[in-house]
Amino acid sequence: MTRAGIGYDLHRLIKGRRFLLGGVEIPFSKGEDGHSDGDVLAHAVCDALLGASGLGDIGELFPPDDPAWKDADSMTILRNVFVRVKQAGWQLVNLDCVIVCEKPKVLPYRDVIRNSLAEVLEASPDKVFLKGKTAEGLGSVGKGKAVEVMSVCLLERP
Ligand code: MG
Repeated sequence: MTRAGIGYDLHRLIKGRRFLLGGVEIPFSKGEDGHSDGDVLAHAVCDALLGASGLGDIGELFPPDDPAWKDADSMTILRNVFVRVKQAGWQLVNLDCVIVCEKPKVLPYRDVIRNSLAEVLEASPDKVFLKGKTAEGLGSVGKGKAVEVMSVCLLERP
């Protein structure tokens, strides 16, 4: 059996925060606001995995008002999600993600981010792909006030 899942997330970009994508810190003047560390890519991937496996969603399993997840490492959350997905018998076929932000450029960090996600998902990096896009200056993302991510995964259960 195979199942597809979709994930989406958006975080405000503010000064004084780290810019994290898939556990990789990218040097930039602003970073993601959030209750956790704000890693927007990790959150979108969690929701794609949880959607495909039907196990819930990130807001339900890791409530933003729960002090346990204050400043939490989102890659730890992703690890936790993947343990649940594995325990339900699923393996990753592939994961694909689109990161939309005006700055910084994501491309130079693509491979290190792919490796970081693949390591947590116990998959080879060729099963994980991501693209960086801009919003052409339009909307809150285009004005540099936010970063958003769309993610799609396919899981299989032998
Ligand atoms: Mg989030």
